[in-house]
Amino acid sequence: MPSQRTKQIVIVGGGYVGMYTALRLQKRLRGELRRGEVAVTVIDPQSYMTYQPFLPEAAAGNLEPRHVVAPLRKVLNRCRIVNGFVTRIDNASKRVTIRPAGSNHGVPERDVEYDMLVVCLGSISRTLPIPGLAECGIGFKTVEEAIFLRNHVIHQLDIAASNPNDEAVRKRALTFVFVGAGFAGIEAIAELEDMARDACKWYPTIDEEEMRWMMVEATDRILPEVGPEMGRWTAEALRRRGIEVKMNTLLKSTEKRHIVLSDGEEFDAGTLVWTAGVKPHPVVKESDLPLDDKSRIKCTADLTVEGLDGVYAAGDNAAVPDLTDTGDFTAPNAQHAVRQAKRLADNIVADLRGKPRKPYVHAYVGSVAGLGLHKGVANVYGLKLRGLPAWFMHRTYHLSRMPTVNRKFRITMDWTLSAFFRREIVSLGELESPRQEFELAAGRQHDI
Ligand SMILES: Cc1cc2nc3c(=O)[nH]c(=O)nc-3n(C[C@H](O)[C@H](O)[C@H](O)COP(=O)(O)OP(=O)(O)OC[C@H]3O[C@@H](n4cnc5c(N)ncnc54)[C@H](O)[C@@H]3O)c2cc1C
Repeated sequence: MPSQRTKQIVIVGGGYVGMYTALRLQKRLRGELRRGEVAVTVIDPQSYMTYQPFLPEAAAGNLEPRHVVAPLRKVLNRCRIVNGFVTRIDNASKRVTIRPAGSNHGVPERDVEYDMLVVCLGSISRTLPIPGLAECGIGFKTVEEAIFLRNHVIHQLDIAASNPNDEAVRKRALTFVFVGAGFAGIEAIAELEDMARDACKWYPTIDEEEMRWMMVEATDRILPEVGPEMGRWTAEALRRRGIEVKMNTLLKSTEKRHIVLSDGEEFDAGTLVWTAGVKPHPVVKESDLPLDDKSRIKCTADLTVEGLDGVYAAGDNAAVPDLTDTGDFTAPNAQHAVRQAKRLADNIVADLRGKPRKPYVHAYVGSVAGLGLHKGVANVYGLKLRGLPAWFMHRTYHLSRMPTVNRKFRITMDWTLSAFFRREIVSLGELESPRQEFELAAGRQHDI
């Protein structure tokens, strides 16, 4: 059982909601933490929080991937950080089960008990049972995926340049397909195409017109976050750059990287990125917390879990009533996640001090999206911007939101350097198999 004196606050997930909730708690409960009356534990498999809106720029090589993450131990220096996967939430016994770091070397699962629990495990990619998708596709939610894609896209150019006489190999390597035209998909295709076009200058045997970049979207709208008018403008802007945007089209199959679309078109593609939506984290579904029909945790407006004491939730894994648009729920985005985290932490402090909680009220102010260097689209407070002003707004807004002065400075330096020097176009794909060279030296046979 937790000690009588120390109240255990456990936060599962150290992303937007988790990190910002813990940050606010360590500020507001400074005295209680020092006196040992309260302990805050953050559990996450990663030792860092990822600032996802910067992933497309990290993939494109404008930002160093390390600079788009915030180290949890440094930022949350008065909290306890436990690296591990939460595998079970059992609120009836007030405990979560974790598979801690090192479990692949025999470290066993263990339980962590709590008095107060914050559930913020975010979301995972929502996939469909499309033949070949699990084998060939990749998502775009993590810094690892962003690094992989950058290396992969440059490697495709290497493949095409190294096989000048094999038309089929070249065509396949130079075909890049993205499925799902929300924030992540549009920003990722726009930034990576921009990078690849730039990189072509160093590949004299590749004509940039040979590359085929395609966005496949099941509905008739792209980038719904910025509204229909700006969505249409974004589609036109991408098409002017030579990116094919196929609306009302479904991916039917991708076995052995052979793409089949619902409009009847078939071709091979070396790259398939799946960004067609997200769903709440599956651990939430297996828990004993109340869920809605979309498997989100049912929350009240003050960010407590419906019908439970001492359990709170927010962000992508929670159904939070939208008090500015009654009857609906807040959208799964960073803007709500950060603001909900602040309110959630304040409500925990209110509960600890026997004060009344306050509801979460925040009207969505709009969205900004980067579409490559000096290109963007924005709709903020009804003000619609495109091109350079939107791109500038996208950068300044996200820079202001990036946690820690250290990271803000490093990102500014990355941008400044990229204004003076061309992008790096080195593929470090070998990072995925770092022992290959040594195993070869030690005599193991490899397929090379
Ligand atoms: C590429 C991309 C671009 C985006 N751009 C924008 C944008 O421009 N504007 C905007 O408003 N929103 C944007 N979003 C959405 C925004 O990032 C999310 O809405 C936000 O991160 C949600 O916060 P969260 O805390 O709910 O989840 P997350 O930030 O995803 O945090 C979940 C945390 O849970 C951890 N976790 C996962 N499994 C376990 C486990 N088993 N045990 C313990 N911990 C676990 C994860 O490691 C992670 O740290 C973007 C998303 C992506 C992917």
